[in-house]
Amino acid sequence: MLKNFSKIIQTLGPAPATVRQSRCIASLSALSDTYQMLYKTCRDFAEGELKPNAAKYDRDHLYPGEAIKKMGELGLMAIAVPEEHGGAGLDYLAYSIALEEISRGCASAGVIMSVNNSLYLGPVMHWGNDKQKEQFVTPFCTGETIGCFALSEPGNGSDAGAASTTAKDGGDKWVLNGTKCWITNGFESKASVVFATTDKSLKHKGISAFIVPKPIKGLELGKKEDKLGIRGSSTCSLMFEDCEIPKENILGQPGLGFKIAMMTLDAGRIGIASQALGIAQASLDVAAEYASKRTAFGKPIMKLQAIQNKLADMALQLEAARLLTWRAAWLKDNKKPYTKEAAMAKLAASEAATFLSHQCIQILGGMGYVSDMPAERHYRDARITEIYEGTSEIQRLVIAGQLIKEYGLN
Ligand SMILES: Cc1cc2nc3c(=O)[nH]c(=O)nc-3n(C[C@H](O)[C@H](O)[C@H](O)COP(=O)(O)OP(=O)(O)OC[C@H]3O[C@@H](n4cnc5c(N)ncnc54)[C@H](O)[C@@H]3O)c2cc1C
Repeated sequence: MLKNFSKIIQTLGPAPATVRQSRCIASLSALSDTYQMLYKTCRDFAEGELKPNAAKYDRDHLYPGEAIKKMGELGLMAIAVPEEHGGAGLDYLAYSIALEEISRGCASAGVIMSVNNSLYLGPVMHWGNDKQKEQFVTPFCTGETIGCFALSEPGNGSDAGAASTTAKDGGDKWVLNGTKCWITNGFESKASVVFATTDKSLKHKGISAFIVPKPIKGLELGKKEDKLGIRGSSTCSLMFEDCEIPKENILGQPGLGFKIAMMTLDAGRIGIASQALGIAQASLDVAAEYASKRTAFGKPIMKLQAIQNKLADMALQLEAARLLTWRAAWLKDNKKPYTKEAAMAKLAASEAATFLSHQCIQILGGMGYVSDMPAERHYRDARITEIYEGTSEIQRLVIAGQLIKEYGLN
């Protein structure tokens, strides 16, 4: 993999002059060459390909298809998938570093990458059999073909165990009925991991996970949602009406679906935390650069203590959230429990993204409020990170739940 990255870096050429070393992530210097090289590759790609086009993707609700294909060529659409299955064969720390940089350039590209890596490929790699991996993993590593994850429904989002989509045993097939909503990559994806109940009386223990190829008879897509942010990614409903899928498309065992969903979301939260870090870092970049150039009362506003205090608080929240995110990734990579740490990382990083993008607008004044500058886009993009893959309220519940396990109720 390292060899690939070296080759890729050579083909990309030098970083644009606007990329200044001083803006590199300080903590990164403590990591090995592989991570630093990956960071540089992603940074150069984000600066050269994503950042110049991010406003257009946002304004026109444009899926960044060409960029996603190039990300596939770089190995970014399947970072933690082993090389023998077509992935980059790296780990979750690498995934976090890469996803932050991609999201720093374009948060929409970030979420498309995150969903394909953690929410789609993650569960298929973990619970899929060899045949499923061959059909539903390898082709989805390239960026040409992407997947999605369908858990939420119109009647339940946070309360995912209350799924009402049904999967009926039809002998040699499963028959799906119901609606999944808010599905990221819903339009472009060629397969979804879909959660449906096979036995409602068992509540969450009756939920199973299925791999549903697309297009398929009995599956219609809803309208493309008109969103506040991450507008370059598609979000839509998946409506199943007597949709027949092959019997072998169940993932794992019947009744394992809720566990698959929760474990997948633990990993996914490291992804969304990393996306939020990218948005937060982009906000700090814009704010600091503007503050160093804009003058008021005869000096750059960066020399004003009120602005310095804002920048200091921004840098502090960002770095703290980054270290939490890297810790969660490290725990996962080292096969240690990380549910609480992933929730902490997602909570801290998403709230940091909201805070930094808010402060960024304040530092830019009027220029922060118009689309000539990226600050308002970062502000809009940040907001979703506190909602999907578990709201901030749910992250606090997860953290408290783990604390109760650790300390007991007495
Ligand atoms: C742009 C976008 C993309 C998305 N992508 C996907 C996707 O790819 N796949 C997918 O399956 N889903 C996706 N979602 C859905 C997302 O995960 C849900 O919106 C989210 O989990 C919240 O569910 P909800 O919207 O139903 O809100 P609700 O669950 O109705 O919550 C409403 C409010 O009540 C609070 N609340 C709920 N329960 C509790 C509780 N027990 N304690 C305290 N507060 C509580 C929530 O925090 C929130 O503030 C996406 C959503 C959006 C907007």
